[in-house]
Amino acid sequence: MKQIIQNKKESYPKTGDWKTKIPVVSDKCVGCETCVKHCPEATMFMGEINGKKRAGVKYDFCKGCGVCAEVCPYGAIEMKDIK
Ligand code: SF4
Ligand code: SF4
Repeated sequence: MKQIIQNKKESYPKTGDWKTKIPVVSDKCVGCETCVKHCPEATMFMGEINGKKRAGVKYDFCKGCGVCAEVCPYGAIEMKDIK
């Protein structure tokens, strides 16, 4: 018998307060989804801007680890210091 575990992430504690750096997705994003697959917090998602696929980040849960910036093959994510 198959069972489904529902992930109600919206009710999780907002661990995003821990980060010192923030990933910023630029216009270089081509929507390849590599970052979405590698984010250890599962906090990246694919959206659309002006009809073009583009990665986004749920900052409430992002811990600023920088994995997304490392794996992006297009150099489209820059880690910026939080001021
Ligand atoms: S890996 Fe880079 S190019 Fe691909 S979706 Fe993420 S930000 Fe965009
Ligand atoms: S910095 Fe880390 S936690 Fe935040 S979106 Fe990128 S891979 Fe995910």
